[in-house]
Amino acid sequence: MPVEETEVVVVGAGQAGVAMSEHLGTHGIPHIVLERDRIAERWRSARWDSLVANGPAWHDRFPGLEFEDVAPDAFAPKDKVADYFVAYAEKIAAPIRCGVEVTSVRRHSDRPGFRVETSAGVIDARQVVAATGPFQRPVIPPVVPDDAAPVQIHSNAYHNPGQLPEGAVLVVGAGSSGVQIADELRRSGRQVFLSVGPHDRPPREYRGRDFCWWLGVLGLWDAETPPQGAEHVTIAVSGARGGHTVDFRALAADGIELLGMTASYDSGVLRFAPDLAENIAAGDAKYLELLGAADAYVARNALDLPEEPEAHVLGPEPECVVNPRLELDLAEAGVTSIVWATGYATDYSWLDADAFDDRGRPRHRRGVSTEPGVYFLGLPWQSRRGSSFIWGVWHDARYVADHIAIQHGYLAHDPGSRPDTASPTQQS
Ligand SMILES: Cc1cc2nc3c(=O)[nH]c(=O)nc-3n(C[C@H](O)[C@H](O)[C@H](O)COP(=O)(O)OP(=O)(O)OC[C@H]3O[C@@H](n4cnc5c(N)ncnc54)[C@H](O)[C@@H]3O)c2cc1C
Repeated sequence: MPVEETEVVVVGAGQAGVAMSEHLGTHGIPHIVLERDRIAERWRSARWDSLVANGPAWHDRFPGLEFEDVAPDAFAPKDKVADYFVAYAEKIAAPIRCGVEVTSVRRHSDRPGFRVETSAGVIDARQVVAATGPFQRPVIPPVVPDDAAPVQIHSNAYHNPGQLPEGAVLVVGAGSSGVQIADELRRSGRQVFLSVGPHDRPPREYRGRDFCWWLGVLGLWDAETPPQGAEHVTIAVSGARGGHTVDFRALAADGIELLGMTASYDSGVLRFAPDLAENIAAGDAKYLELLGAADAYVARNALDLPEEPEAHVLGPEPECVVNPRLELDLAEAGVTSIVWATGYATDYSWLDADAFDDRGRPRHRRGVSTEPGVYFLGLPWQSRRGSSFIWGVWHDARYVADHIAIQHGYLAHDPGSRPDTASPTQQS
């Protein structure tokens, strides 16, 4: 049977795959996007029911299309985000094949390009873009054994409070997922414990502008390397209930007991690091730093934005921060479930290429791999802080597509078409 051929295979049709298709299409480069589920599947099934986008609709979108039925300053519900990418794919007539899993990609040994094996047959491609996203494999740190009493799930499997058994819940991780899930569980009447690690918690809004705007004008989305060498800065933000600043003091006032980093487990008892006050203080310091930078920007540009002195007042630390609990007997506290909002890892087990370092991380520059013909997209900090977010991946996709187009030009070059200077016609 003849093998199908194309110039570029893009693996994954989340926002990264859709953006990639747009830019490849602009360059007129033949390509196929393969998606094992549906377009933007993660937004449909690997997020909790009440999730809305963390950024307002004017910001968390691609340049070429606005959300149809979400006001610019509102936060799109997760299914509308998925619908948006389906609409976008239709608008650009992206050649996406859904329900096709890529099982292996291997370089040809006897000619250029790659053999792409899929659940629906084989494709030969000159280039491959891994657009499978930054969040492929949920990570649960090996702290509590599987056979311990509480039900344990990762945040990607959390949908709503009703899915958890009656009783108190421990949420581990205080990035956007952890704080939003803890807040939802508390509001549903549960007793909630929240284990808080290092985080960034920008103000939702300051002086009338959303933090997405502030990060933009202050150039912080464009930061090229994570601060202090941290690979992934957890940003604790929320668009829930119309959007609000994540404030650990308010969460504690609502009855959530804050704990330090979850450290170890023994015979039904969890232990926590004595770092809660430090983590809260570091988050506060970054929050105040952003307010300071925003104020300086307003002054420098003589902007007429309303002052907001009350935003600088943080209030006293809650009792659970001043005297943190360092141990929790899960049965005694009635904890029947643990939600691990502890992030994700990548999974490139299908990609057989010399494109990874000794820790399995992609070796690349702005998505252009060290292995010629292999590209990555959607990686955290791929080119800047915004890379793994909706607006950022679109710009990274353009860079990767430009690189592919340049290579395409070289490969298409035919030296035989050079005018023959030695021909008699030209000599006369
Ligand atoms: C809870 C949560 C909330 C977020 N909220 C926001 C937000 O509000 N704003 C924002 O800008 N960002 C947000 N993000 C970050 C980011 O925008 C999303 O994670 C987004 O889904 C990443 O898109 P992606 O296309 O890079 O990856 P994904 O959406 O994960 O898409 C990758 C696709 O690849 C497919 N795939 C994987 N392996 C294969 C294979 N072998 N063969 C075929 N297909 C494959 C998967 O099925 C998947 O559909 C959020 C992330 C999380 C976890």
